[in-house]
Amino acid sequence: MDHIGSTAVRGLAAKDIIDILVSVASLEPESGYRAPLEQAGYIYRPDDDPQHRFFKRDGSDRLRLVNVHVCEAGGEWEARHLAFRDYLRANPKAAARYQRLKERLSAEHDDVLSYTDAKTDFISQAVEGFHAAPSGPVLNAPGGLKSPLTERTPGPMAAPEQAPCYNCDQNRHLPDLPPRSAVLVERGWIVAHTFDTPIRGRLVLLPLRHVESVSELTPAEAEALGPLLARLSRAVEAVTGCAKTWVLMLAELPGFAHLHFHIVPRPRDFVFSPGGPSVTDFLRHVEGDHLTDHERDEVALRLREALRQQG
Ligand SMILES: [Zn+2]
Repeated sequence: MDHIGSTAVRGLAAKDIIDILVSVASLEPESGYRAPLEQAGYIYRPDDDPQHRFFKRDGSDRLRLVNVHVCEAGGEWEARHLAFRDYLRANPKAAARYQRLKERLSAEHDDVLSYTDAKTDFISQAVEGFHAAPSGPVLNAPGGLKSPLTERTPGPMAAPEQAPCYNCDQNRHLPDLPPRSAVLVERGWIVAHTFDTPIRGRLVLLPLRHVESVSELTPAEAEALGPLLARLSRAVEAVTGCAKTWVLMLAELPGFAHLHFHIVPRPRDFVFSPGGPSVTDFLRHVEGDHLTDHERDEVALRLREALRQQG
């Protein structure tokens, strides 16, 4: 059971309504949870989301102030809504922007589910806001190294209009992303399973904000990076049984200049060539069919579980 919605985020002004998420092993058969909820006076309110069942109470007692959402444990609905709550909890500025958006929308929608609909818009705004925010004194510190990419741009960050960015595009759809594209969202970072790869558990870790060089990270982003790399590597080792993970950061391909750390599971049976580790050769020529979307979602959900078990 989890507390979600506006009342779950400190600092968000919320209506008195508390949203409780109940995760069940399976939504079918409905009777397993619907009967006890109805006995408690809750009424099933069908919506068109197959991953979600919504219950609320009518009447004037205080229990009418508690809405119940039911979804599948370990499923996408649960992951997206917990990720969104955690994102707001970790980003007070984003929470404040979300608050303003809700105030604007409240005149149009008074249904609790407008919370869900508003999120897509909100995340686009949040990502835009990150682009507009100054990056602090880190970037142009005297004597600091500048990458050719950052020198080319007039501001501290490349605007998405000037340079199309695959990752910023993806982040605009954050609440709707499948598990493979948002394995974890935390402290300004997002983790995705690499596409076009036969390597199970090959991940990328990237900031939600558009950043092209490690030197542009804010102190908060930099502080989150080390623990994230360690936790992700532990999860990848647990799920794939690899010997260790390789971590690489290049971000040189046009359109993919958004900072992204590759986290690559190194197979136990990998044979090093006499001339050196041949890591880049391995990554380029690794054999096998690319994982399907479904396979990548499956690995993503197992990684989430492994991360949850680490606490
Ligand atoms: Zn970007």
